[in-house]
Amino acid sequence: MKSYRYLLIDADGTFLDFNSTEKTAVKLLFSRFDIPYTEKNLHSYHNANSQCWKDFESGLISMETLKTRRFSLFFESEGIKADPCEAGLEYIRLLGEHPFWMPGAHDFLSRLKEKHTLAVITNGIARVQRERLERLDAMKYFDYVIISEEAGCQKPSKAFFDYTLRTIGAAKDECLVIGDSLSSDIKGGIDSGIDTCYLHIGKERSDNGKITFQAEDYSQILSVIDADQLDVENK
Ligand SMILES: [Mg+2]
Repeated sequence: MKSYRYLLIDADGTFLDFNSTEKTAVKLLFSRFDIPYTEKNLHSYHNANSQCWKDFESGLISMETLKTRRFSLFFESEGIKADPCEAGLEYIRLLGEHPFWMPGAHDFLSRLKEKHTLAVITNGIARVQRERLERLDAMKYFDYVIISEEAGCQKPSKAFFDYTLRTIGAAKDECLVIGDSLSSDIKGGIDSGIDTCYLHIGKERSDNGKITFQAEDYSQILSVIDADQLDVENK
């Protein structure tokens, strides 16, 4: 394994616990809009949200549209009388206010930071991502934050990875993409000719032979990319 100077690290599901953030924000939003916090409403919101994210990643809708449309679809399907624009704005505010680390992520990043230059690469909403990183004091680990909404293109597009390489001034072969999404992080890295590490915490390994390596937890990533440790192991 070669040693990588730059690590391009996805945020949600890789070091930020988006599930906890989302759960907290949805619960507070429902309560503010008098929407019953039921399984049916949650399921309906999640369906609308994931459809919008799929359409966004395929380039069919913009981030601005996504912010409102996930609520207009949800409200329509459940017959809820509320303003989707207002809900969209309030939800973004709530997401930013409630960040959580994934267990062990703090130590993982501080170990990586010892020997590598770290960049966040995220398709999240710029305001939400920046606020969460700041509230967690996570910026001390990162030299760069690349957010699709600011880049004008998103993972997995080659344009996003070209933009990232240009911004950090790196060559492809100095970089490793680390992420939990096969459809955005890993596909994007492979399509752009950058090595990839698929972090599949609690999920199956992928059978995609083009992935450079796969890890089921942070310690596996550290043991593979830590060049010194690798040297010791090889002796
Ligand atoms: Mg992710």
